[in-house]
Amino acid sequence: MTDRTWSHYINPTVKAIPPSGIRRFFDLAAEMEGVISLGVGEPDFVTPWHIREACIYSLHKGSTTYTSNHGLLELREEITKYLGTQGVQYNPRSEVLVTVGVSEALDLALRTLICPGDEVLIPTPCYVSYIPCTTLAGGVPVTIPTSMEDDFRLTADKLEAAITPKSKVLLLCFPNNPTGAIMNREELLKISEVVAKHDLLVISDEIYDRLTYIGQHTCFASLPGMRDRTIVLNGFSKAYAMTGWRLGYAAAQGDFIGAMTKIHQYTMLCAPITAQMSAMEALRHGKTPMENMVAHYNRRRRLMLQGFKEIGLPCFEPGGAFYVFPYIGDTGLTSAEFAEALLLEEKVAVIPGDVFGPGGEGCVRCSYASSVEDLTEALRRLGRFLKRRNITQKQ
Ligand code: PMP
Repeated sequence: MTDRTWSHYINPTVKAIPPSGIRRFFDLAAEMEGVISLGVGEPDFVTPWHIREACIYSLHKGSTTYTSNHGLLELREEITKYLGTQGVQYNPRSEVLVTVGVSEALDLALRTLICPGDEVLIPTPCYVSYIPCTTLAGGVPVTIPTSMEDDFRLTADKLEAAITPKSKVLLLCFPNNPTGAIMNREELLKISEVVAKHDLLVISDEIYDRLTYIGQHTCFASLPGMRDRTIVLNGFSKAYAMTGWRLGYAAAQGDFIGAMTKIHQYTMLCAPITAQMSAMEALRHGKTPMENMVAHYNRRRRLMLQGFKEIGLPCFEPGGAFYVFPYIGDTGLTSAEFAEALLLEEKVAVIPGDVFGPGGEGCVRCSYASSVEDLTEALRRLGRFLKRRNITQKQ
């Protein structure tokens, strides 16, 4: 490698993928003091103590080995019990794979399904990894922009219009990151009819299912005819404040889980046993602490919406996750300009909506997984920012 740089050797597909737009703002914010970050998509709570205790106990007992590739059977049984409460039954022996976060489950699901050129339908704005992971799997991401007028929900009409003979997978995420949008059962039923009509498969990322504040979450696989067309992804990062433990799972028809497990066994072998032991405790005894955290998020959600109202920032009411997605278009700034100016002038970090794909421009993502004090101060600074720039928002 004398006259050539590394860049010459790097796979062009990898080279063409842009780095995460979220990271750029973290890096900017990290260099400044006194920043209130509404940028991170991570609970501000520490994992409940009884879950950490279960981890310590497992280490005392000497549980430090590999597990089955699929994950501990006892954990898979707890997972299927939980999914049973969501109205869908799985066999814990063959239809569940425990993974290193939903991140790994998503990557495996895409790699297991996609043949070169297959189209993956992705409602946007969407979680930042969906488009790059689709590309890395050899698929073609086809974005379906949702809009504030539709409360950022996917409509059957928009889905129909995006389908081509190459469409293979629909990648759903409700409650949604970054918008906080949810979809109710009737709306999902309409989507399921289009899915069946066009013989699509669905990857349903339900990582925020427990963080639903309006009505009840509907697991997509529980809808009529959808169980064997759907790969449900879920995990422990958000509901149990366990981001650092790196644990998630996929549930689907056995042949598909078997195929995913082949990639998993050669690349990851298994998810960490310590995290698996702790996740078991989370599912067995974590309901009350989890519900307490959810109640806190819900209070903060209302605080943010009320605060935006008072300073004149339009925002649709998100029913889930821990994000609000206010509209900043009337300021005359792009979402990137808005986020950068707000950070430099008022030391409040938010994420520009454009990093989440088509439909995100004009909005910014604010996470309310922060203390009430920080959120109150961030709202005060945001109000001052708008006032100083003499920006009068239309409500
Ligand atoms: N999906 C969505 C929608 C997310 O927001 C996140 C985390 N921000 C993930 C997946 C990844 O979660 P995990 O920590 O389980 O890998």
